[in-house]
Amino acid sequence: MSRIQLEGATKRFGGVAAVDEVSLDIGDGEFLVLLGPSGCGKSTLLRAIAGLAPLTAGRITLDGKDITHTPPRDRDLAMVFQSYALYPHLSVARNIGFPLRARGRSKAQARDKVDEVAKVLDLADFLERKPRELSGGQRQRVALGRALVRDPGAFLMDEPLSNLDAKLRTATRSELTELHRRLGTTFVYVTHDQVEAMTMATRIAVLNKGKLEQVGTPAQVYDEPASTFVASFLGAPAMNLLPATLVSRGGSLFAVASELEVPLGITAELPETEVTLGIRPEHLRLGGERRDLRGIVRLLENLGSEEVAHCSVGDTRVCVRGPRPLGLAAGDDVSLSTDPAHVHLFHRDSGRRLL
Ligand code: ATP
Repeated sequence: MSRIQLEGATKRFGGVAAVDEVSLDIGDGEFLVLLGPSGCGKSTLLRAIAGLAPLTAGRITLDGKDITHTPPRDRDLAMVFQSYALYPHLSVARNIGFPLRARGRSKAQARDKVDEVAKVLDLADFLERKPRELSGGQRQRVALGRALVRDPGAFLMDEPLSNLDAKLRTATRSELTELHRRLGTTFVYVTHDQVEAMTMATRIAVLNKGKLEQVGTPAQVYDEPASTFVASFLGAPAMNLLPATLVSRGGSLFAVASELEVPLGITAELPETEVTLGIRPEHLRLGGERRDLRGIVRLLENLGSEEVAHCSVGDTRVCVRGPRPLGLAAGDDVSLSTDPAHVHLFHRDSGRRLL
């Protein structure tokens, strides 16, 4: 059992709140990803859970037990760092077994456990090597192994894949997902990489300037972003965001931007409201019946199976994404159709989701 609960967790450095009143309930066996741009406070939050950055205010409980002031080594949590933090002069076996020996287990006990973990991580053939004789991916597995031997209640991982090249990162991503499924242990995982978050997480917690913007499944945060911040952070290219006015006409609601009028399929009488209209690049269709937007193609990007057209529509840049080839060239006039089912509305000032 490892349920981690944060209540009003706050960490200040001088006057700056790196983590600002974060309340979060991480369920037993979850793969929770802390996601956000550089400096949003995700590492500090993870380190606070580990006990390495004591909170300025708020509370942390582990299975209902208050651990806010518990020293890191007594928390039953294992941290995996971005740098791996391996001992260069020790063999793989001794690196993995280090936490056991440090806790007074016999050599034989440590050896058995190391063998078991090495099998799980496919490291059995490398046990006598030194870290410098391993590839980046193997080193990363040794770091994981050192966390695994302790049978911790939860794993805390700070960007563990960021030192790997793109191909290895993709492979290790699925290994980690598989490992999580097999162990059924709680994982709390920090990254700024939205693909890692979307592919591995059971839930994603998006942080912005120390505050929690949204917590939800990958589908929830992608399909129903709670704010323009979340909307533009997840998705590449980012969601198109256009200033618009919400008007009711004949009882129906429309979002009206400079060259665009989107019926929202909603019947309501509302005073005119300034909004931000959000449309994902994959939800704009070239041509189509409605032809809501007219623009000029400025640039085409080849993504392999898909293509992205960057278009100017009035003063705004709009991206369209679809299967390659889109059949366009720079300089072409285009008309684009929206699908009211895939339109997002945000309050203009607060950026919070309206619809
Ligand atoms: P990155 O992805 O770049 O690692 P992050 O989201 O993990 O960023 P943190 O490392 O948690 O962000 O930092 C959050 C804020 O707290 C930053 O403004 C950072 O400068 C500040 N900060 C972090 N650690 C300290 C410290 N020990 N002393 C002072 N300020 C700190």
